Amino acid sequence: MTVKTMQTEAVQNLLLKAAGLDKADGNPRLKQIMHRFLSDIYQMIEDLDITPEEFWKGACYINELGSNNESVLIAPGLGFDHYLDIRADAKDKLEGLDGGTPRTIEGPLYVEGAPLSVGEAKMVDGKTPGQGMLLHGKVVDEEGNPIAGAVVDIWHADSKGGYSYFDPSQSAFNLRRRIETDENGNYTARSIVPSGYGCPPGGSTIKVLEGLGRHGNRPAHIHYFVSKASYKHLTTQINLSGDKYTYDDFAFATKDELVIDARPIADKTLIKENGFEDNYFDVEFNICLVKTDKSAAQDMHPRERASQ
Ligand code: FE
Repeated sequence: MTVKTMQTEAVQNLLLKAAGLDKADGNPRLKQIMHRFLSDIYQMIEDLDITPEEFWKGACYINELGSNNESVLIAPGLGFDHYLDIRADAKDKLEGLDGGTPRTIEGPLYVEGAPLSVGEAKMVDGKTPGQGMLLHGKVVDEEGNPIAGAVVDIWHADSKGGYSYFDPSQSAFNLRRRIETDENGNYTARSIVPSGYGCPPGGSTIKVLEGLGRHGNRPAHIHYFVSKASYKHLTTQINLSGDKYTYDDFAFATKDELVIDARPIADKTLIKENGFEDNYFDVEFNICLVKTDKSAAQDMHPRERASQ
């Protein structure tokens, strides 16, 4: 039998006091969010008859999650990043800002301030092993006109699934570059094919996912920020086709329009022309930006990000 206490004066007063709503001081927005948050949790405890043992297990789990720096990892795993994207898409539609290349989640591994070059860049430091990848494309507007001077900020994992900065074995900004599109709107990066990766084994995120009967793997993917004044900022990523997890990403980032083939190139002339020593993969990702005069839409949303 579940006891019902939520609607009693004692519990409703407790919620008001716990959220500081009986005090003049403090931040009104925080009070509003906290009151709703606590009300929903209390209600869940009542509805699901959460035991003290389950409650304290959850509280200790939050401690562990934070000490492992995994709150930004479990967030996409539980669909929060994708849910925020769904809301942003709906807001864009309402404001007439939909269209162009679809957005998808940023993930937690961006580092600000990657080297900037015009037209092309070599992303790999020469010490990182991997199969060569020519990553290129054109940035255009909705009428198909090339956009020169757009900044294409690209970051991806190495062939073991590790990211520079977070993986101390890699050099600074390895596999991270910003490329300004040339006068024809083109960008070209010489890099290596990234590998997918999983949540850290034995970590806090995988523990929960396994409890839910889920895995914690991502397919091979490449992250993008694309920006240019007078255009809506784009946060997106491409998933390489043919990966076991292309359509089964634990972070829910896959979109059909963002699944791209990596075409194997064995032509000796092309290999030489494009500066590779051996067979490589060609990955073409063309990007369409949406025009806007709303300055907030031209910037990426503020969030704590690593910088170097
Ligand atoms: Fe990633």
